[in-house]
Amino acid sequence: MLIDSHAHLDSPRYEDDREEMLRRAAEAGVGAVLAIGIGEGPAEMHQALDICRLFNNKPGMPKLYASAGIYPHNAPEADDAALQKLDNLLAQPEVIACGEIGLDYYHEGAAHPVQKEGLISQLLIAAARKRPILIHCRPKDDATDAWDDLFEVLEEHWAPTGLGGVMHCFGGGWEQAKRSLDLGFLISFAGNLTYPKAQPLRDVASRVPLDCALVETDAPWLAPNALRGKRNEPAYVTQTAQNLAELHNVSPDEVAAATTRNFARLFNLPLGMGN
Ligand SMILES: [Zn+2]
Repeated sequence: MLIDSHAHLDSPRYEDDREEMLRRAAEAGVGAVLAIGIGEGPAEMHQALDICRLFNNKPGMPKLYASAGIYPHNAPEADDAALQKLDNLLAQPEVIACGEIGLDYYHEGAAHPVQKEGLISQLLIAAARKRPILIHCRPKDDATDAWDDLFEVLEEHWAPTGLGGVMHCFGGGWEQAKRSLDLGFLISFAGNLTYPKAQPLRDVASRVPLDCALVETDAPWLAPNALRGKRNEPAYVTQTAQNLAELHNVSPDEVAAATTRNFARLFNLPLGMGN
């Protein structure tokens, strides 16, 4: 069984075929999907949970879990009401993670200090609710500024909780991977691992111990190379898992087993938590 550790199942791009899309994932061997609850902003933060509840009682589906969080560029919307909503969502048993939260210096948007403040407010809520975090970190081109700021925040405000988290759609170098591992984070690889120009990322992935790795789609974005430019979906996480298996010279089944174990360990779930 494989787990897609990060998919935006609430995307309007699945409006017409969400149920069939999830069935395809189950048929491809995807036993569980973590649906990311950020929407287009805090007003839509609950949508991932709604989707979990809608589909989790239907047969032939992967088991769905949800997250909730305020994306870095929505940090200006992280007012008291939004943070209260986040807290309420994190209290729900299906909402196992807070995210994706973090720092994005790549796109123009929220000012960096505002992003940092939004991140820290959410770390406090996630810590109180004992939910691991899903981190989005994207520096400007070849800079490491966002990573440096991120680690500073996490070392001060998150490391003491011991709750850990996931570096989602990891795109850093070995130094950032090593610092993430030292913080007790799992490193999640997405479809961009399969892109021809991603050799530096593959070099990093081959050094990340399999017992600290996850795979994800970040669907509907980042379709793996064979389907690049198309709408992505959880079924295609198999291609990233295959790639990671090749990098570690193991079978895809071994990657599936390891990443499933890692997911269960981080979120305190029973090993057979999928469908
Ligand atoms: Zn995402």
